[in-house]
Amino acid sequence: MTPEQIESADAAHVWHPYSAVPPAVPPYVVDGAEGVRLRLADGRELVDGMSSWWAAIHGYRHPVLDAAVTDQLGRMSHVMFGGLTHEPAVRLARALVELTPDGLEHVFLADSGSVSVEVAVKMCLQYQRATGRPERRRLGTWRGGYHGDTFHPMSVCDPEGGMHHLWGDVLPRQVFAPAPPAGFDTPPDAAYVAALEAAVERHAHELAAVIVEPVVQGAGGMRFHHPHYLRVLREVTRAHGVLLVFDEIATGFGRTGTMFAAEHAGVAPDVMCVGKALTGGYLTLAAALCTAEVARGISADGVLAHGPTFMGNPLACAVANASLGLLAVGDWPGDVRRIEAGLRAGLEPLRGAPGVRDVRVLGAIGVVQLDHEVDLPAATAAAVAHGVWLRPFRDLVYTMPPYVTDDADLARIAAGVTAAVGAG
Ligand code: PLP
Repeated sequence: MTPEQIESADAAHVWHPYSAVPPAVPPYVVDGAEGVRLRLADGRELVDGMSSWWAAIHGYRHPVLDAAVTDQLGRMSHVMFGGLTHEPAVRLARALVELTPDGLEHVFLADSGSVSVEVAVKMCLQYQRATGRPERRRLGTWRGGYHGDTFHPMSVCDPEGGMHHLWGDVLPRQVFAPAPPAGFDTPPDAAYVAALEAAVERHAHELAAVIVEPVVQGAGGMRFHHPHYLRVLREVTRAHGVLLVFDEIATGFGRTGTMFAAEHAGVAPDVMCVGKALTGGYLTLAAALCTAEVARGISADGVLAHGPTFMGNPLACAVANASLGLLAVGDWPGDVRRIEAGLRAGLEPLRGAPGVRDVRVLGAIGVVQLDHEVDLPAATAAAVAHGVWLRPFRDLVYTMPPYVTDDADLARIAAGVTAAVGAG
């Protein structure tokens, strides 16, 4: 198909994320990706400032990841997971247990981040029911979160500022505490800590679990918070028999400078979700991990009631194993530190610029918050004109580049962000 044919068929038939049909702004047609570059159908090359939404940490067409998929393709691309098992899934489960915080021992493979959150919620509800507390059916969270687009995840997204305000009363009614005070380095706020503890204590009798994104609240507003609040949640939930779920779907696999964001706090949850960068962005795969205690509780009462058709897809598991292998042999902490320094150098000059409310950088994440809604088409076009792919939203122009982005491309991304801020 020619680029024009793709554009018109797209407008006629394809539904894009958070879009009407046809979308208000036609998407750019991409026909290849290699290293950190996307190649548009018109021949332009863009440095990917988004890692395809946190996922492509090693860049595109990585020879090791390509080989993992093609090798596995030669054995089997998919088999059902009910009653069957295979080495790629078993190796992945074992690797995840070794890599994740202590105590997480059992792995449920899901097809997407949102589904892994659904599974995590089921784990918590079933555990409470199985251990004699069936009345504990609600979830606690803090405002400003984002956990995905299916119904339980939507119910714990920020109810006002988030993307799911349309749903109001059809969502399960959850318990919200205020968002944690902003700033990874901002010393913990004692009054907030006391209020958070009190909220969990007050609602403990009806809470199956508290679920939060550790350290970075992503699509709910790209806010960072001090890890101490996670320690507080760990203690107060444990004291009251409430499970703690960390959603590491965006933060997992090195993005914040530690393998998992929970490591900044030195605490382990009862249930944890991972996804996105799990396969290096190659294929759709996520997982919900839980402790032996949670698995024992559920299993004493029956089965975990979930089983997707494409569970444990061997291609996805094989490429996830290869991606974890790359992390094991490479210097990703060094790369993330280098990117952090590059983003600070490149974005800090925007602090105080007209229309800029805040600039913040943590690990391989750089955020410029404006004092107004971004003009998405104008901001995107300005970045594209600088050879950079960005996808701003709300009042945010932000980047989370692949870890293999070199200094020259990092400078280009910073120039793209600056142009997007100026245009948007
Ligand atoms: N949780 C977090 C923290 C996310 O950032 C996302 C996606 O952006 C999800 C869950 C949902 O994952 P998916 O889009 O794979 O369903």
